[in-house]
Amino acid sequence: MKLFVFSFFISLNLMAQDMPYLDTDFGCTERADAERYVQDFNIDVQSFGGMELCNSQVDTKKLLNDLELLEKGRFDADGSNKFIKGFVPATNYYNWMKGETRGVERGQDVPYATAYNSGGYFTMQDGWAKLSTLGRVGTIVHEARHTGGYYHIQCQQGPYQGTSVSGCDRDYNYGGSHGVEMEYYARVSVHGKNFHPVYKKMARLMAIARSNIFFNTPILKTREAVLALSQDRGRAELFDNGQWINREVPSVAGRLKRTSFGAVVFDGVRAFAVELYQNSGFRDLVSDTYSYYKLLRENDSSVKDFEEFDSGVKRYVVRMMENKLTPYDFPNGKWGRDVALPFSFAKASTAALGKAQTGLYLVSTSGEIYNYQPQNQRITNTGLTWGLDHKEVIVYKGQNLVLMNNGQIFASTASGLEPWSEAKNLYSDLVTTPVYDGFEVIKE
Ligand SMILES: [Zn+2]
Repeated sequence: MKLFVFSFFISLNLMAQDMPYLDTDFGCTERADAERYVQDFNIDVQSFGGMELCNSQVDTKKLLNDLELLEKGRFDADGSNKFIKGFVPATNYYNWMKGETRGVERGQDVPYATAYNSGGYFTMQDGWAKLSTLGRVGTIVHEARHTGGYYHIQCQQGPYQGTSVSGCDRDYNYGGSHGVEMEYYARVSVHGKNFHPVYKKMARLMAIARSNIFFNTPILKTREAVLALSQDRGRAELFDNGQWINREVPSVAGRLKRTSFGAVVFDGVRAFAVELYQNSGFRDLVSDTYSYYKLLRENDSSVKDFEEFDSGVKRYVVRMMENKLTPYDFPNGKWGRDVALPFSFAKASTAALGKAQTGLYLVSTSGEIYNYQPQNQRITNTGLTWGLDHKEVIVYKGQNLVLMNNGQIFASTASGLEPWSEAKNLYSDLVTTPVYDGFEVIKE
């Protein structure tokens, strides 16, 4: 079982032999190939909407695209990436999949699952159909591993910590469904030979986003970095290990927000992923289907802000409206009970000037700063106020950094706010982000 966890084509430096990553860019499947896939995987074509070779609105064609990506994807020999353990032979995904699959059907009878495996028979659910090509292929690889008897246990971290949901693997070396899925993503990113650069970017996002919650013994180490948006919003600058590195950013209006995998640009309704490890060379917008910003799909326009954050080992998601805050109830798969706010809400911040700890801070329209404690859902007035010339406040290495409305970054010191010595430019936005050691941060 796999639990829940668009684009504009601008640049044209795609290698001719690269496979597409958007369903709409796949050509029609050859009938002979489709019939072979149906036979190899015992696909219940009718349950997917009947045979369809061209139109990816029909789920059958989505599945055919997934199998084509699995059959035709090519990899260089495995290197030293920490996700790659040789669970599945890199040269043989298609035949391995075929050997682990007794049948595939389309259904929707387990509401909290993307897909599930019952005795080698896979049921692909609505969650699968909504995913990107990359997410769908990862789901199929994940399900195939369950046929070998690999199962999940209760989670000791993440959104399902403390619940009875069995969604996690003991550790990475168990080589369970999560491990095999991550290994595929890492191979695509690091050793993939004929995958679209945006498919590779999505693979890094998926690997980072899922591996930081689904292993009870963590596989990744994390460090803090600063991510700032240039004044013209044309690029992001990542300050990591004492160096500034340029990163491509989605060219949309919105606020830079921290997420569990890194950061997004959030316009109040939609969130687009910022990928920290490697530029793809493409400006395609990648919707955040990786962190729990994906819950926004069900949202309405009364949402004023949204945060995904960890407190201790547990992950939380909250949305804020003008006079209330609502936490997400993960085990029940729905928004929980509203918490009334004793003030008019303006915006959320992960930091407050004068507090060296990150948290969820709620700023009122009159500038008062409140703190929300997710464990007991209490809201307390910090007694602090938001500076009129402050745009963003973050915590980096135990120190507050403040982005001023004029684009300068100041640091909080014993003698007050002083220009931050590492800042090289003027900026329009600022967050701290986690950087994980699953992938190298490549300079250009
Ligand atoms: Zn599973």
